[in-house]
Amino acid sequence: MALGGYAGRVAHVNLSSGTIEYKPIPEDWARKYIGARGLGVRYVFEAGPLVDPLGPENLLCFMNGPLTGSEATMSGRLAVVTKSPLTGTVTDSHQGGWTAARLRWAGFDGLIFSGISTKPVYAYIENNTLELRDASDLWGKGVHETIKVLQTRYGATNLSINAIGPAGENKVAFAAWLNENDRACGRGGTGCVGGAKMLKAIVVKADKTNQPKAADRDAWRTAHRNALAKIMDESTITSPKKGGLSLYGTNMLMNVTNTIGGLGARNSQETNFGDGAEKLSGEYVKEHYLIHDPTCHACPVACKKEVEVTSGPYKVKMESVEYEPAWSLGANCGNDDIESVAYMIDIANDLGYDAIEIGQCISALMEATQREYLPASEGMQWADKPAMVEFCRDVAYRRGSAAKFAEGIEPFTKAIGHPELAMTVKNQATPAYDPRGLKGMGLGYATSNRGACHLRGYSPASELGVIGLKTDPLDWEGKGFLLKLLQDLHAFSDSLDLCKFSAFAEGPEEYAEQYRVMTGLESFGVDDVLTTGERIYNLERHYNNLAGFGAGSDTLPARFTSEPSKSKGSEGHVCELDKMLADYYNLRGWDNGVVTEAKLKELQVV
Ligand code: SF4
Repeated sequence: MALGGYAGRVAHVNLSSGTIEYKPIPEDWARKYIGARGLGVRYVFEAGPLVDPLGPENLLCFMNGPLTGSEATMSGRLAVVTKSPLTGTVTDSHQGGWTAARLRWAGFDGLIFSGISTKPVYAYIENNTLELRDASDLWGKGVHETIKVLQTRYGATNLSINAIGPAGENKVAFAAWLNENDRACGRGGTGCVGGAKMLKAIVVKADKTNQPKAADRDAWRTAHRNALAKIMDESTITSPKKGGLSLYGTNMLMNVTNTIGGLGARNSQETNFGDGAEKLSGEYVKEHYLIHDPTCHACPVACKKEVEVTSGPYKVKMESVEYEPAWSLGANCGNDDIESVAYMIDIANDLGYDAIEIGQCISALMEATQREYLPASEGMQWADKPAMVEFCRDVAYRRGSAAKFAEGIEPFTKAIGHPELAMTVKNQATPAYDPRGLKGMGLGYATSNRGACHLRGYSPASELGVIGLKTDPLDWEGKGFLLKLLQDLHAFSDSLDLCKFSAFAEGPEEYAEQYRVMTGLESFGVDDVLTTGERIYNLERHYNNLAGFGAGSDTLPARFTSEPSKSKGSEGHVCELDKMLADYYNLRGWDNGVVTEAKLKELQVV
């Protein structure tokens, strides 16, 4: 490969036959799709959009990017890309930590698994080589125990372990991959695909010897310093020990969204959680439970927050009470007890599933109980913490009434005849931003290529006024433009793969410059960043169109579009999705959500 930054090597592993081949990335693909998310989607597209997500043809790709493992700030992200068993769309889910960097240092741009093993296995990677090893003794163990056993076996130094837990083994549709114990590829059920393939873990042993080298070393040092300066000094969010993200982690958002009437409560029947939000907030956690601020490879921000609950029924030491699960298992379930929330997040991490999804499963069950759509014996009351904890354990093993949610929320709400209780898009739960108080997020959920998602185009950065491009959260106009811009920008940064939080400080200028001097391309500017991101977004959309998501598939739960908010800040507002969609499709050049042949040609997808 002529481009700098890449290892030039991807392991293709057929788990049915046990064969392993090492191949370079086609250079044309690297130029068009960069790495991580973009490249992973390109490989998954090749396997065909109609494959069974749990069948042998589906690919499970662990991908890094051309900046991964370098000095670039926040360059420790790994993308897991596959066809989702939860949504039926293509999906990519990212995690921090060190696995991505070590994978690059071990000599790989990615690992692509096909087939299904006849017995549990894990992949051991060291010195440009991958071996499949027997995981029979690990099968059935939680993520935390699996990591402990493998650390004892290989020594904890220079070692990263990605694992699935019982939820993945039992093919729960929203199962996750986790590394560093608690850093999850949470969304879309990538861990379920791992379980179907009988792949328990990825173990990577590597030190920094083989760090990626920029094609232009001097220019690289300048590009890196410029980007780092933005993170360190220019952002009120990322600045170490000063910015909100560094001080409180992602849970800096709880009080903010509550105040503006953008925090869903009790399955989004309300848009505000009153005084309860403060007890769930990052500020409260810092004051009462914080013991350490861990970080990821090459990141001075350290947004991870290790906490300890030292007494009571929910004693736990864990990382991290992120905003999304603090909301889903907290306000969303009418629960203001942060100790119980931390405890349940730890269960989700250990059993290996998406902590956003589980809170939304529980809140749908609770609303069904409130409205007496279920016999009392099958229901659950708001904030019934012991029942919630039991549910969190049971779902991973498909036990009891929790088993009804193992395929996601929509099968349950449809089975009881009340699909309106599912706060989902394409069977993936909506995250922690109520689109009546943050309207751009409604468009973002609907048009996300992986089901409801806040991270495809993180519009709250604009609607809450923390980036230069500020918009009114209650105004629908201009949100089509905003979402297209952010979705394309994030598709590029997810392909580099830099942490999403870099976008609080860096922009397309910094991304373009770092990519250009790392690879040695003669020219690559802001327009190229956005066109490349647009190409990736359109490839994903094209995949989904071919997988059966045609015209009219971009929807929201009716609650957001037809039940006005009653909370201060957003009172009287609904999310005007149809108006925003019309603008958005026009800007995208799509036909009611379907990519046209002309657009695919223009972007050189076909
Ligand atoms: S900002 Fe947080 S999640 Fe992102 S790289 Fe830094 S520590 Fe990791």
